[in-house]
Amino acid sequence: METMTETTAQTRKFEAEVAQVLHLVTHSLYSHKEIFLRELVSNASDACDKLRFEALANPALTEGDAELRIDIHFDAEARTLTLRDNGIGMGRDEVIENIGTIARSGTRRFLESLSGDARKDTQLIGQFGVGFYSAFIVADKVTLITRRAGSPAAEGVRWDSDGSGEYTIDAIEAPRGTSVVLHLKDGEDEFLGAWKLRDLIAKYSDHIAFPIRLPVQKDGKSTDEFETVNHAAALWTRPKSELKDEDYQGFYKSLAHDFSDAATWTHNRVEGSQSYTLLLYLPSKPPFDAMFSGREERKGLKLYIRRVFIMDASEQLLPSYLRFMRGVVDSDDLPLNVSREILQDNRLVAQIRAACVKRTLDLLEKLANDDKEKFQAFVDSFGNVLKEGIAEDGANRERIAKLLRFASTASEGQARTVSLDDYIARMPIGQEPIYYISADGYGAAKGSPQIEALRARNVEVLLMFDRIDEWMLGYLSEYGGKKLRNVAKGDLDLDALEGGGDKQAREEAVKAAEPVIAKLKELLGERVRDVRVSQRLTDSPSCLVLDEYDMASHMQRLMREAGHDAPASKPILEINPQHALVQRIEAEADLTRAGEFSLLLFEQAQLMDGAQLGDPAGFVRRVNALLAAA
Ligand code: ADP
Ligand code: MG
Repeated sequence: METMTETTAQTRKFEAEVAQVLHLVTHSLYSHKEIFLRELVSNASDACDKLRFEALANPALTEGDAELRIDIHFDAEARTLTLRDNGIGMGRDEVIENIGTIARSGTRRFLESLSGDARKDTQLIGQFGVGFYSAFIVADKVTLITRRAGSPAAEGVRWDSDGSGEYTIDAIEAPRGTSVVLHLKDGEDEFLGAWKLRDLIAKYSDHIAFPIRLPVQKDGKSTDEFETVNHAAALWTRPKSELKDEDYQGFYKSLAHDFSDAATWTHNRVEGSQSYTLLLYLPSKPPFDAMFSGREERKGLKLYIRRVFIMDASEQLLPSYLRFMRGVVDSDDLPLNVSREILQDNRLVAQIRAACVKRTLDLLEKLANDDKEKFQAFVDSFGNVLKEGIAEDGANRERIAKLLRFASTASEGQARTVSLDDYIARMPIGQEPIYYISADGYGAAKGSPQIEALRARNVEVLLMFDRIDEWMLGYLSEYGGKKLRNVAKGDLDLDALEGGGDKQAREEAVKAAEPVIAKLKELLGERVRDVRVSQRLTDSPSCLVLDEYDMASHMQRLMREAGHDAPASKPILEINPQHALVQRIEAEADLTRAGEFSLLLFEQAQLMDGAQLGDPAGFVRRVNALLAAA
C-alpha cells in the first residue's frame, strides 16, 4: 500500500563515489569517446543473458517475446541516441542500487589508480564496472526507462540525470527491458549516423551473441524496419577455420573491456566423456583488477552452459596464479541450474579446470618458443603472479618453473630474461647446483659479497630480488635434476668446479687463519654464531652467511616489518684472510683498537646484507677514526 506514494518524481543525490566518477567522466575523458557504445551494448547484452537464464526456471518472464535483441535508434533532429534492449530490466530499487551507487570495492581502487592520463583512464573505466557512466562522455543528459521482466506494465521506472550530482526517478508505463536515451552534447553529432554506428558495432560489438539492430536507411533517412548489423553468434561456437585474427581480437576487447589487443589465445573444442569449448586469452597488459590483491572478487572467465551465460567463474575454473587469463568456457554437460557451491565440488568442473590450466601452460610455452618479445612482455607483466604457481600447483611445478625468468650475473641489467634451462645449458663442467642469491633489490643482489668467488670463477648466479622469490624458492628445491642452492647459505663447495683451486693451499690458509679467527670470536662475542674463513670472498673483507635451513635475512626483515615473529638467527661471519683489514686486526696488539676494527668488519658485512646497523653513530665514529689515522 505504501508504495503507491512513490509514483511522484523524486530527486536524489548520487553517492559520493558515483559523483566523483561522473565528474571524471564528464571533465577528463575525451579520447576513445566511443567506448560508451561498447559499454551500453555490453550492459544490454548482460541484461539479455540474465533474462535468458532466469527464464529457464520461469518461462513466463519472456512475456511471449523471447527474441532477445538490442535496437539502436538515432534522431538527428532531437539529437538523441537510444539503445533499447528487451532483457531483464530493472525495478525501482534496482535502478537506485545499480545506477545510483557503486557497490564494488573496485571503484575505490579505480579512483585511486587514476593517473590523470585521460587515455589510460578511459581504458580503466569499463574494467571497474562503472561502464554505465561512460554515457556521460558524450551526453549532457541521460534518460533511462526500464521495467523488470515479470512486473506489471505500470511498474516501469524513469531515471533522468545530467550527471552533475543528482538524478530524478519516477514511475512510468514501460515495456519490458531497458532503453537508454542519450541527449548528445554539442559536437557529438557523429554518433547520429547509421554508418558511424555500424562501424563501431563491427569494431567493438560484432560478437555480442544477440542481434544488434539499426534502422534500415532509405534516401538518407531511417525507415521503421530494422536490420541486424552484427554477427550475433557466440564467437567460440564458430569453427576456427572461419575466424580471423581480428575476429578474435574484437571479441577479446569486448570481453575484457580492454583497448589493447590480446597477446595470444587458444580456442579448443573438447569432445569425449564430456564436451566443452574453451577460448582463453592472454592479455598483453595487466588487467587492473587482476593485479591488485587478486584473491577477492576475481573475474575474467565466463562460464556458459549450452550458450547460456551462467556466471563469472574465474575462481572455480582457474587457479589464482593464472588469474591474468581472460575468456569463456562453454559446457555441454553441466546442469543449467548449477550453483557456485556445485561448481566448487564437481567432477566435470575439475576436469575443465585442469584443461584450462593445461591449455594455458601450453599457450605460454608456445609463446616462449615462438615470440620472445611478447613472452618477455608477459614475464614483465605477470611473471611474479606465475611464480605463485610454484607453491600452489605442485603437479605442474616443473612446467611452471620452465616458464620463469630471472636476472643473473650473466644477463644485462635487472630485466628478468634468464630461464632455468638457459642457466643449466651454460653451467661449467663440474658445477652441480643452480646457484642463486636473494636480496632486497637488484643492486643488493648483484653486489652481494657472497657471490664474489663464484663470479671470479665465471659461475653464473641467479639474482632473486622480488618479494615473492624467497617464498617461492621454499617450494622449488630442484629443477631439471639440479638442486637450487642459495649462495649465502651453508658451505660453498668449490672444489668440484673447474678452476676450483688448490685444495691443499686452502686448507693451509684455514689453518693459518686460526689465530685471527679466535681473536675475532673473542672480540665479537655474542654478536655472531661463528666466525670462519670464507670460500666465497675474493675482494671484500667479510660477509654474513646463514645455515642451510635458516630463513634468508631479508626475508626475516620482511616478516618483522609485516608484524610477524621471525626467528632471529644469529649470523655467521665469514672473513677473507687475504684482506688488509683482517690482517690489520690480526697484527693489532691494542685490544681496544682491534675490537673497533672487528666491529667494523662485522658492520660492513651487515650493511652489504641490507641490514640496519644496531649502532650507526658508533659505525660512523669508527670509520672516521680509521680515516683520520690513515
Ligand atoms: P557493470 O556492467 O560492470 O555491472 P555498469 O556501470 O555498466 O557496470 O552497470 C551497472 C549495473 O546497472 C549493471 O550491473 C546492471 O545491474 C545495471 N544495468 C545497466 N544497464 C542495464 C540494462 N540495459 N539492463 C538491465 N540492467 C542494467
Ligand atoms: Mg557494464
